[in-house]
Amino acid sequence: MRVTWSGGELTFRLDPEDEITGKAADEHPVKLATNTCTISGVPADAHPDLYAVAAWTVVAPWTRRKVTFDRAVSAEVAAALHDGWGVEAGPVGAEPRSAGGTLAISYSGGADSVAASAVYPDAPFVHFRRVPHARVPNRWPHYRSDVLAKLAKRTGRDLTVVESDLEFTLAEPRPGYPEHHAVAAGALLLADRMDLGGLAFGYELGSRWLGGDRYLLRYTPDNPMWAPHGAWGRLFAAVGVHIVLPVGGVSEAVTMRLALNSDLKDQVRWCLRGTDGPCRTCGKCLYKELIQAAVERRPIDTPITADRPVARKWLQPPPFGGQEMIEYGLARVPGIEQSLFAKAIDHFDATEESTSWLDHCYPPAIDEIPPRWRDEAAAFLTSNVGLMTEREIRRVETWGS
Ligand SMILES: [Zn+2]
Repeated sequence: MRVTWSGGELTFRLDPEDEITGKAADEHPVKLATNTCTISGVPADAHPDLYAVAAWTVVAPWTRRKVTFDRAVSAEVAAALHDGWGVEAGPVGAEPRSAGGTLAISYSGGADSVAASAVYPDAPFVHFRRVPHARVPNRWPHYRSDVLAKLAKRTGRDLTVVESDLEFTLAEPRPGYPEHHAVAAGALLLADRMDLGGLAFGYELGSRWLGGDRYLLRYTPDNPMWAPHGAWGRLFAAVGVHIVLPVGGVSEAVTMRLALNSDLKDQVRWCLRGTDGPCRTCGKCLYKELIQAAVERRPIDTPITADRPVARKWLQPPPFGGQEMIEYGLARVPGIEQSLFAKAIDHFDATEESTSWLDHCYPPAIDEIPPRWRDEAAAFLTSNVGLMTEREIRRVETWGS
């Protein structure tokens, strides 16, 4: 893989051994659509290691053995790429970048991200906004990135919006981040200007520790994407931008509760479709409604009926992505047996007692936060959430086994 930056425009060329369909860090196959993308509003003189890592968040899935950058990188970054991915990176010859003093939040506006913001009320936001690509047709026009950017502005936080078409480098499964970390490409290029030493993400317990979403569905202390000792954690650390997961120890029930109780509650938006509010008809809205109903202890309120395609997966047997939250919802939502989740109840033996661990914080997640930002998170989580008991900790550590 050969990588060139011209201002904020990234161009990459595959070497003969590279492949059009590669795999992201979570093993998900991703197919390349085009070899250019642009990140706007970023400085022209960022540290060469920042250019390298920002590019790697895009090109990693398609790179097999070697990555050649257009400017020399530090030996530290080359080593992190070698140890994490087995690729030869070069040329080598730059001094490493030292970590800055500021923690910024990679802010999406969803409940998890708002909860992370509540932990650090003074942290500035960097918001990634999707814009169309000049040469790739937009097959997903209902994605309202303009609405999300507007809501981010209304938070009143120190906000930098980074506009990028990098999601269109992906042909399949659909436009999206080639690696989850590509959401941070703009923040990485801004790291010198913002004096960044850390970047906080809203990844919660399921994503960090339970192998959630499209990943493994079992306890994953060595998660390659989000563990500080994983490949990505070490690569970000090598450029002095530590990955910080303020809500990595709590479930989506807790992030939902924290978000709805936060100063930013009017700006929370997890749906990418609605303009005046969530669309209420997509799969994500349905999943989040189950969690919100459980948190608010009320019946589920949705226009979706069991015959809709979006409801189909709940009529099939598990596993489900975010299965711990399904169990949590089934145990707590009044009248769930009359809802479209009725069939799912047969597969679980969930009770309030058996799901209580999802109301507390998994302590090792706090220990992972770099020392500089740990105490603030620990104080917040201890007083607003509470730590798991030994028994609850065992529920995390035996998940999926
Ligand atoms: Zn929706």
